[in-house]
Amino acid sequence: MKTCLFILVVALCVHSFCPAIQQTLSAPAPTAQPAVDEVEDSDVFFQRATNPQMRKKDFSREISALLSRMTPEEKIGQMTQLEIGMITRGDGDNIQIDPEKLEKAVVKYGAGSILNVKDQALTVDKWHEIIGAIQTASQRTRLKVPVIYGIDSIHGANYIQGSTLFPQEIGMAATWNPVLMQRGAEVSAAETRVAGIPWTFSPVLDLGRQPLWPRFWETFGEDPYLAKVMGAAFVRGVEGDDVSSSKSVATSLKHYVGYSFPLTGRDRTPALIPENYLREYFLPSFAAAVKAGARTVMVNSAEVNGVPGHINHHLLTEILRNELGFDGFVVSDWQDIKKLVTEWHVAADEKEATRLSVMAGIDMSMVPSDYSFSDLLLQLVKEGKVPMSRIDEAVKRILLVKYQVGLFDRPMPDPSLKVNFATAESRALALEAARESMTLLKNDASVLPLAKDRKVLVTGPTADSLIALSNGWTYVWQGNNLSLYPKDRPTVLQAIRNKVGDDKVTYVPGVSFDKEIDIEAAVKAAQQADVAVVCIGESSYTETPGNITDLTLSEPQLKLAERIEATGKPVVLVLVEGRPRVINRLVEGAKGILLAYNPSNEGGTAIADVLFGDYNPNGKLPFSYPRTPNGLITYDHKLFETENTSYGNTAFSPQFEFGSGLSYTTFSYSNLQVTPASTTVNGEVKVSVSVTNKGLRAGKETVIVYVRDVVASLSPPGKRVRRFAKISLDPGQSRTLTFTLRPDDLSFIGLNNKPVVEAGDFEVMVGGLTGKFTLQ
Ligand code: BGC
Repeated sequence: MKTCLFILVVALCVHSFCPAIQQTLSAPAPTAQPAVDEVEDSDVFFQRATNPQMRKKDFSREISALLSRMTPEEKIGQMTQLEIGMITRGDGDNIQIDPEKLEKAVVKYGAGSILNVKDQALTVDKWHEIIGAIQTASQRTRLKVPVIYGIDSIHGANYIQGSTLFPQEIGMAATWNPVLMQRGAEVSAAETRVAGIPWTFSPVLDLGRQPLWPRFWETFGEDPYLAKVMGAAFVRGVEGDDVSSSKSVATSLKHYVGYSFPLTGRDRTPALIPENYLREYFLPSFAAAVKAGARTVMVNSAEVNGVPGHINHHLLTEILRNELGFDGFVVSDWQDIKKLVTEWHVAADEKEATRLSVMAGIDMSMVPSDYSFSDLLLQLVKEGKVPMSRIDEAVKRILLVKYQVGLFDRPMPDPSLKVNFATAESRALALEAARESMTLLKNDASVLPLAKDRKVLVTGPTADSLIALSNGWTYVWQGNNLSLYPKDRPTVLQAIRNKVGDDKVTYVPGVSFDKEIDIEAAVKAAQQADVAVVCIGESSYTETPGNITDLTLSEPQLKLAERIEATGKPVVLVLVEGRPRVINRLVEGAKGILLAYNPSNEGGTAIADVLFGDYNPNGKLPFSYPRTPNGLITYDHKLFETENTSYGNTAFSPQFEFGSGLSYTTFSYSNLQVTPASTTVNGEVKVSVSVTNKGLRAGKETVIVYVRDVVASLSPPGKRVRRFAKISLDPGQSRTLTFTLRPDDLSFIGLNNKPVVEAGDFEVMVGGLTGKFTLQ
């Protein structure tokens, strides 16, 4: 039986979400088509990824024994997280452990955790030296509790020199491929462990519904269902079946919750989100990841409805703990207890801020550059203002994660793990992910793929920039130190040269991100070329340094592209950007538009592969691409917001719609069936549809099932994504997919903040076809 199951699982995997496996198989394409394919859809994947049977060993006996021996000082030490500068001196590659500082942090104060880099990514050997010294110090403490080191491994182990880097989350979302996400996360975890680090501050589970927000690209886009499936895949990949294994690390879900929806679009500014909306849109990705087994949660640095994330007892304790059943620990974000005084003005001094946040549910404070938290919390405990029971609760959770990740057994880095670092297979997977994220938004008269014998002008500020391909959290916080990037990864320009030969390619920068350089020279070169590849977008940024006040692409870039379009030569725009910059002035004049997001170090190759037809694009937009700076609205808006009602609303006219993405082949949808036509509110509905590849090339297609609740007691969205599946089809091949919708998928959060399924009519929309059913 087990063997049969294994074969079935492998077969399903190869047929659906496992493109990399598919590419390496040389077996001939199947000839006879089964009537109905068993495709692993998003739901089958999700149920497996969030299966609670896995991975929670019981350490309660060890924890109770240890806790009973700890002094208040030792307990509070465990709740303290310091930055690496608190134990080192020197910068960059010259960073050294400072023995006195180390002694103070780890032995005197007993700090439970240390985080991140001082300035920049380090080599594996340097990490071993530093982590080794920290753990050696921890073993000199009375109870020998190891330190848990945490790091931002955001798109791979990006703070380790030479690591394998994947597209940023927004690009991974565009793949609509959770198996690929899981496998990428496995690589990221394994490479983080190689450094001796058992904990990453990822994934970001905030929804990207405010494109101005400078961390938009760190999200899985605007849809809660896609974010929930991809988030669960991320957690499953990073934590594995056994988080203590030498290839897994603990995750931190961030930034709980509502951080990504600031009214102004600026980082760390207020959001207003009614609780039913919070539960409908922003909470599901966190709830799913908790179910998938996530060990830690990091808190929203900003505020929701006037309550800063770090003192929100309702969110941190009532919902996260009591309702979602989260049993790991909650860590603050950077300096955020202090900011309750300096930024949010909800506490008169840091002592009061410390009390409020610990009592709200913060277990560990990312202090991180002084000892104020430890000192103040000790005073509060001595004064009886924070009960010892609350301290014990926090410390138990921290010790639990330390046991679970295997720190008590193996605190020291293990040099033998280096074989898992930056392997050829991992790099191939990163290239596969970069290719699969590429989203073709326009292809008039099949301008793409380009023939390899054409003369090409390459121009624009993202053409020759590894930094723009990667964006923030790449070797340094802002991603902007070129000296740390690998020398052997091509930019878009170099990849095009590699593909078609130097003699066919002219490069003129034209403009920088915000200044004209030599637009006239670019125009002249365009006149001599057969086609112009204009690479525009954004340089690297994250958090507050990435704030902008206007989504419009910079004027010099618009001008360059417009001038090239005016030559009459075919123009292909390549957009390398972390959020949708408005380009309405360019869209009509461009023959082709390829959105690359931030595909990272393999991105140049992936872009060139798509431009010249060595890869058939299949990414789909995970957000609505606005046409105008104020035309911000998500795909799941209410119908009355956009239809020509008596109010004449026409607000929703995105430049490119959520879910769009072209291929070099054509997929046709037919035979949508929804059964039964009528069932009860507790019933299940099957949706089946056939998809045929009508073109001449093999390709992949994401089939997206949208459902509309026609009439509801709260005004319903026009549609919501409820399922998806990514399939591969050879020319002429058809497949029939069947999806099962359950009551959960048809519910919404009512005014009482609870899910409700209401009787009535529902519409199902798949690939331009519509069907319907009724719930009695
Ligand atoms: C960011 C977090 C990050 C932390 C540690 C903060 O500024 O908001 O996402 O994990 O720094 O680097």
